[in-house]
Formats: sequence, C-alpha cells, structure tokens
Amino acid sequence: MNNTAKRPHLKPNPNFSYDQELQAELFGRRLLREELKAFSDDLIHQHLRNGFLKVEPGIRTEKGRPVCQRCGNHAPEQLASYQCGRCGQTCVYCRNCLTLGVVKACSQLFTWSGPPVAHPALPKLDLHWKGKLTSLQQQAADQLTQAVQVKEDFVIWAVTGAGKTEVLYPALKDAIETGQRIALVSPRTDVVIELSKRIKTVFSDIRVNVLYGESTEAYTPAPLTLATTHQLLRFYHSFDAIFIDEVDAFPFHNSKMLHYALEHALKPGAPRLFLTATPSSKMKADFERGRLKGVRIPERFHGHPLPLPTFEWMGNWRRQLEKNKLPVKIKRWTLTQLNTQRQAFLFVPSITTLETVLPMLKALDKRIVGVHAEDPLRHQKVEAFRSGEIQILVTTTILERGVTISSLDVAVFGADAELFDERALVQISGRVGRDHRDPTGGLYYFHYGVTWHMIKAFKHINQMNTLAKEWRMK
Ligand SMILES: [Zn+2]
Ligand SMILES: [Zn+2]
Repeated sequence: MNNTAKRPHLKPNPNFSYDQELQAELFGRRLLREELKAFSDDLIHQHLRNGFLKVEPGIRTEKGRPVCQRCGNHAPEQLASYQCGRCGQTCVYCRNCLTLGVVKACSQLFTWSGPPVAHPALPKLDLHWKGKLTSLQQQAADQLTQAVQVKEDFVIWAVTGAGKTEVLYPALKDAIETGQRIALVSPRTDVVIELSKRIKTVFSDIRVNVLYGESTEAYTPAPLTLATTHQLLRFYHSFDAIFIDEVDAFPFHNSKMLHYALEHALKPGAPRLFLTATPSSKMKADFERGRLKGVRIPERFHGHPLPLPTFEWMGNWRRQLEKNKLPVKIKRWTLTQLNTQRQAFLFVPSITTLETVLPMLKALDKRIVGVHAEDPLRHQKVEAFRSGEIQILVTTTILERGVTISSLDVAVFGADAELFDERALVQISGRVGRDHRDPTGGLYYFHYGVTWHMIKAFKHINQMNTLAKEWRMK
C-alpha cells in the first residue's frame, strides 16, 4: 500500500500558501489521482502535509466487504479483481462506475479540505429572457424559490410542454444572487445539451459549467453547473441545491449508484428539486400523501389542451414483420403523412423492429430516416429533422423526451409492446402540439390489442386536461 492512503488527516495550516489552480479543480469534488494529472506529486504531498487535501482509498473494506468509495457499490458481481500492474497485487476494482475511469483498491480519491472557493453574491443578476410566465407557471416558480430558500425537497409535476425550464429561472436567479452553488442535472445527455443552450443564453452574465460524457469543456468552479447525473459522482458536498430534470428517466430512475451520487454531491441538508411530467408511482404517492411537497402544472404554456391519442388496430404486426410485410394501416398512415407534408415521428418498440420496418418505409420515400440510441449519427439526424430535410423519423424511445419540434405528428408502431408503459406513452404523446401557433397534431397508437398501459396513458392525459380546465374556471 502507498503511504498517503494511511496518512491521518491534519488540520489546515493557516500559513500555507496553497495552489489556487488545485483549489479550483478540487473544491467540492472528489477525484482520482489520475484526474489530477496536471499537478505534480510534490505539490499534492505539500497540500496533504499541510492539511489542505484529504485522501481515501478507492475501495474500502466495510464489514468485511469491499465498497467503492466513489459510487457506493458493494455488490459482489460488480466488483472484480485482477493482477494489478500498479500495486503488483491482486487488486479489487469497481465495474459499476467504470465509465468515469477505473477505481481500484490501490486508487486514491482526493477531496479539498482547505478554504472554499468563494462565490460572490451577485445582488442584481439580469436574466436575458423576454418571455413572461403564465399565472400557473408563476405560482409554481414562487413555491420552488421558497423551497430552495428553506432547504426543502420539492417536486414540480408539469405536463409536457408546460414550460418547466422557464419555471426554474426565478429560483436559479434567487439562489445565485445569494452566492449559492447550484447544479441542474438530468439523466439524459440530450436533455443536458438542450438545457444548456437555453440556460447559457438566459444566464449569459455568469459562468455556467456544462458536463457530460462526451463534452470537452474543462471544469471550473461556477455558480451554476449543468450535468448528467453520472457526472455527480465527481462531486462531494458541493451544491447548495440540485435540480433534477426528467427525474423519472432512465438511467436515474432505478439506479442506486446515481441516487448515491446525488446524495453525496449535495451539501448536508441541501434540498433536491425534482422536475417531471411522469413521476414514478412512489413519487406520485409521496406527493399525493403530502410526504413530498410540490406543485402540479396541468396546463401547457400556450393554454391549449394536450392532444389525446387515437387507438388504431393494426393486426398481428409481429407476424407481418416476420413475413417482411408492412402492416396496411402503417402504409396508409405513412402515405397520408407524406401527402400532408407534415413532419412526424414514428416510434417503434425495438432496434430489430426499426431495422425490419425501415427499408419498407424507405421504399415509399427517401425522406424517411431511422435513428436509435447506438446510432453514431443520432445528433446529426435530429438536426437534419429540425431543418426539415427529413420528413418522417422512425425512432426507438430515445426521442420520447427532451426534443421539442413544432408542428409534429406522432404515431406509435406496436403500442401494445411491453416497452410502451404509461410513462413512455405519455412522454411520446407529449411531443405533439408544442408550438402555440400549431397546438394540435395527429397522434396514433397502432396496436394488436389495447393494453392497460395504453388506457392508463389516455386517462393520465385526460385527467391533466380536466385539471387545467377546472383551474381556468376558478
Ligand atoms: Zn464504483
Ligand atoms: Zn492495484
């Protein structure tokens, strides 16, 4: 074992002149030695000797079991060992958080224990945004701002197209003005990229970090950090509040690791602010029984109701695909769609379905293109769709959320497939009618037998429309 891992932590020496670049890199974070390549061993040791750094082993043994100190993983199947080239021993490593670089038993994780990076209060921060909140949005924004001030967890349950990003602006402004360090995160990279475009414009007077797997931006301390939930694994007791957009989305929803990352990235007692159009049943129950404070926004920002789906029986589509036949209803829908010149998403339940259906559709028109999660051109294809080069985009559920396109029609191929649960169907339906100039559009669920999830999705959308109507009549 190396000797730094055993070193007891010292009190910071007030006379030590510390390195400000190291402070900027490490304050509020927890990083591997390999992530601090820019700093020499000598410099690191000086800071350790003077109590400005803390170091811990990457894997610690707790109650006889190895536990990854970065992601909290202790599942034996997610911990492996190998003959390590660095320590020359059989070394345990974590497979759970491998995408951020390997954590091994002989790894060192560093945190900053010197003086904090000060975020000066910015008493009058200008927002570069000309819009105006609807009264429902304003009500939600006021309650959210207050939740951050009193450090209380809070959920905003807003229908798709409610304009929940705008609802965040007042709370973010208020927190930043008082010198707080805030993170706005989402499980989905696409959502982080979309958010960052808007947030960087509205908050152009301050530095905003944008962190996700493929981003090349270097980290610097900033009042506001936008990131994927994965990136929170690199933070430690860092944020005064964390806003989590699309909290019910994969992979955050069921990931112990990402929940661990969230808890550790928060300063002790700091609040979590959840945003969702389709809360999990647990969150829904917590909200409805008052265990989790929150507010519902049942109305879209443009005041028009959410489009309701039409159920269309398409026959045994699995059988037809086996015979390489395109279901008649889909062919008819596609030809009508091509005639109307309107753009559409056609959601399919799997990559296999996509690969079977796409050539048959392409034979009808070249402006029909397919996209899925592993497609290296997925971002380019979405951009090409935005610019109107593509008329119908056949997609897996990757585009179920985060993408907003005006005048869009939507159809679901095989809506009875298991993958299309209530939440997926509500999100998919929410792609339609987003623009106030064109608030409606076609929405079809093509199926071979109506499922309980399809009915629940229909009821969910209908209930929100009813709530919105009731609210307007008040
Ligand atoms: Zn780990
Ligand atoms: Zn090792």
